[in-house]
Amino acid sequence: MPGDGDSWNPILVIRNARPKTARHLPALAGTLGAMEIYLDANATTPVLPQARAAALAVMADTFGNPSSTHGAGLRAKAMVDEVRARARRMLGAGSGRLVFTSGATEGIQTAVLSALTALRGRRAIPEGAEPALLLYGATEHKAVPVALRHWNEVLGLGFEIRAIPVDGNGRHDLAWLRRHAARAGLVCTMAANNETGVVSDLVGIEAALAGSGALWLVDGVQALGKLALALDRHPIDYAPFSGHKLYAPKGIGLLYVREGAPFTPLLTGGGQEEDFRAGTENTAGIAALGAVLRALEDRDGLSDLATLATWRDRLANALREAFPDLVFNAPLALCLPTTLNFCVPGVSARVLLNLFDAAGLRVSGGSACSAAKATPSDVLEAMGLPTWRASNAVRLSFGAADGEELVDEACRRIRACGAALRAGDAGPEAHAEALAHAGADDALANVPVELSSAEVDALRKASPLTVFVDVRELYEQHVDPECRFPAASTQSVPLSTLNDAFARWLALPADRPLVFFCRSGNRSAQAARALRRLGRANAWSLAGGLALLPR
Ligand code: PLP
Repeated sequence: MPGDGDSWNPILVIRNARPKTARHLPALAGTLGAMEIYLDANATTPVLPQARAAALAVMADTFGNPSSTHGAGLRAKAMVDEVRARARRMLGAGSGRLVFTSGATEGIQTAVLSALTALRGRRAIPEGAEPALLLYGATEHKAVPVALRHWNEVLGLGFEIRAIPVDGNGRHDLAWLRRHAARAGLVCTMAANNETGVVSDLVGIEAALAGSGALWLVDGVQALGKLALALDRHPIDYAPFSGHKLYAPKGIGLLYVREGAPFTPLLTGGGQEEDFRAGTENTAGIAALGAVLRALEDRDGLSDLATLATWRDRLANALREAFPDLVFNAPLALCLPTTLNFCVPGVSARVLLNLFDAAGLRVSGGSACSAAKATPSDVLEAMGLPTWRASNAVRLSFGAADGEELVDEACRRIRACGAALRAGDAGPEAHAEALAHAGADDALANVPVELSSAEVDALRKASPLTVFVDVRELYEQHVDPECRFPAASTQSVPLSTLNDAFARWLALPADRPLVFFCRSGNRSAQAARALRRLGRANAWSLAGGLALLPR
């Protein structure tokens, strides 16, 4: 039964799974699908217009090298210093150091290298004592545990690395941490989780670590601009941040280092950043980050946290209305005001992502790093969620630059997605059957069937009777009905109903090309291969799908 928890295997099961034709579906109002709504801010964000302008101004005018002593260099240095001062104020960095980096992954490497280099001495342990532990939250971004393992190995330290368990709400197990605090050499706990939005209890972690002497790394990436931060109020030693999660370009970040915390530079060379990070500064990125911080400080086009929370509640309500069985994977009260992570019992994440994408809503199935892999989420598994939830979660994340109109339009589309799914769903469980029917011979698995959109255009010019087949499910076609190919030659045959159409296509003249298309090119490639297996050589798939076609 949907909603019954672990016992139920919902993967690829859709209720009311009777294929219908598109004309049986209720008409949807207006311009759905016309405009892309980006709801994947935890993966990355667009660059704020002010930030773009600031970066361009640096490239055009303030292009000097901050290390140069002439006027151009001094102007660049003044800009860098101003941004650093602003960041110091906004992060509550006090007497700590702020180092510009290329992003959070570099900040994490630098912090881990610094801490592990300082902990080297703890390898020579007195008799009877145990070696130091390196601890990280079980839901940490993988940059952290991977960096711990990497530097532990490269430095030949051999410290034991252990994950701090989290509870069902995604919060660290503080009792466990307290028990292990005395042996801890380095403790890594993110401020807020990128997949679920769960905000860590930094005060509780601080109390659990009291008196332990452990170094403390707090990954602040998802907190920047979404949580009030006062780094110097906690004994945090290192805190990495990333510009591209907050409307600055990719390739710029910050690392906070507490005054007196051990430090070993990752990059050495020309002595920039007072020897904390060599390499000529990314001045365009720094200027862009500075513009974002200024916009945040001045509330210039960026909404405050209370407003964001009301928008999150609107989106949550729209989701509940659209999918009445929906479950949120973390309590909203413990989450960032900009992140929703949920499952819909009975509907796989793949179906939901296709549906949302067709409606022009760009959401994600988890972290961006693992979006291309169809494996359960480590984060949700660490929280003890059943496999069907860890495998079928959808993350919706927005940001402070998203206006109210966009949120309301997103809510409308979410409701339309729910209606489309109820009205027109076809069981994707039929996919396997349709493709099995085409034969199990995999000799064709690697035969190229993909054509770029330019090649498809050329094919259509050479063979005006080319048949186009939209293999998206009907609920996707319903929320995105725009016809990209000549309507008269376009057929709608969802992959789940492919079986029914094979005979029809095989009866066409042998030289008649068939071009299958879908959202991303995966399902259409399956369809083209299925037809090839049946002996039809002229079957093709639109590479990259509708996602890559200009709208
Ligand atoms: N930490 C968290 C929590 C993140 O969400 C990310 C990015 O996904 C990173 C670290 C890595 O950041 P960057 O892309 O700046 O290297």
